[in-house]
Amino acid sequence: MAMPAPAAPSGRELAKDPICGMVVDKAAALKSGRTYYFCSVGCQRTLESPETES
Ligand SMILES: [Zn+2]
Repeated sequence: MAMPAPAAPSGRELAKDPICGMVVDKAAALKSGRTYYFCSVGCQRTLESPETES
C-alpha cells in the first residue's frame, strides 16, 4: 500500500522516482545504481529494461 509522503523527518532523505514521479524515502526505495530510486519494482523494471515494442 502506498503511503502519502509526509514532511520528511530529520535524517531522512527523499528522492523522486524518475518513472512515475512519486517521492520515495531513499532508505526504503528500490535503487538502480547510485542514481535512481523507485517506488516499486515495476518502475525499476521500466527503467532498466524498457519494453521493446515489436
Ligand atoms: Zn514509481
